[in-house]
Amino acid sequence: MSEVKTKNIQDDSATKPKVADGLDDIQLGARRKGAKDSCVIKSHTYVDSDGANDVNQLFPIVHEFAWEHYRNTCKNSWFPYDVGMVRDIAQWPTLTEDERGILERTLGFLSTADSLVANNLVLGMYKNITSPECRLFLLRQAFEEAVHMESYSYIVQSLGLDEAKIFNMYREIKSMADKANWSVKFTRVLSDPEFATGTLENDQKLLRDLIAFYLVFEGIFFYVGFVQVLSMGRRNLMPGACEQIQYIFRDESLHLNFGVDLVNQIIKECPELWTDAFQAEVREIIKEGVALEYAYAEDTMPNPVLGLNKDMFKDYLQYIGNRRLKQVGLEEEWPGAKNPFPWMSELIDLKKEKNFFETRVTEYQTGSALDWDED
Ligand code: FE
Repeated sequence: MSEVKTKNIQDDSATKPKVADGLDDIQLGARRKGAKDSCVIKSHTYVDSDGANDVNQLFPIVHEFAWEHYRNTCKNSWFPYDVGMVRDIAQWPTLTEDERGILERTLGFLSTADSLVANNLVLGMYKNITSPECRLFLLRQAFEEAVHMESYSYIVQSLGLDEAKIFNMYREIKSMADKANWSVKFTRVLSDPEFATGTLENDQKLLRDLIAFYLVFEGIFFYVGFVQVLSMGRRNLMPGACEQIQYIFRDESLHLNFGVDLVNQIIKECPELWTDAFQAEVREIIKEGVALEYAYAEDTMPNPVLGLNKDMFKDYLQYIGNRRLKQVGLEEEWPGAKNPFPWMSELIDLKKEKNFFETRVTEYQTGSALDWDED
């Protein structure tokens, strides 16, 4: 039998940045984890007291918000193939060119966007988060992004759409490529093997990534497409596609709500990260997100369609941008911006959805009504 050689593999670990990945040797006899030992990130003020900050031990729960969001996501389990597409297949040829265009563009962007989110989560974020219950949510979130990708493919294939056209859109249509490229630069920072939190500068880099992905990517970049497709549902068009997009909208709202709590928890644990200069930078990140999403709205709607027009999206995105700023304690950027689509928040209520789309629907919601503070 050949000798197992593991010696030297970790010999240079002491000189390298230590990420919070949970790959350190198990400390035999280390102090037991206490109720207050866990921090969200291994920040520059982080103290690992005798191994008690153990990323592998879920209990005792320290960050209740993450555990609660995890439990809520599990109540929302759903699967694309349970949703019928027969009426959609019949309706598709009867839609106008503009109506077909907005569904194709939405599928084109979202089908690759969920992969970009998953890349950020798996390749960058996860290894830098130290709270086991936050990690639990991230695992569930990664699964949901996979379900979403399956859903888009199911819609594309059910309708017999041109797969090459749809799935290449994010690198063939400028407004989509701009959104994707804007996000990838944040992932690149965290996925660098040399990157680790533990300095003020790097802790801010992680926080910047979380804000870009949760508040902008999941909190702004999906919203034009969601409004466009769900507007079809309001007119009893494409009920199967709309039902799936509605489930996805609900999932993404929970991802956003978790992300907002995560960001605010990091600020609470490490208030020195939240400098005036950093707050100004966050404001710019949100403004960039709003501008990119509005460019996408202009691009996808050369003509008014389904009672929607470009100007309505300018108001809507400014309204959403204000909400994102307020969610991390910043002042509004666009005072007085109004929401032209108040029905969006109602659509997250699954019970209304059933009657609304008049579809055969499996009752996925297994818990009591969730508090959907989102629009
Ligand atoms: Fe998501």
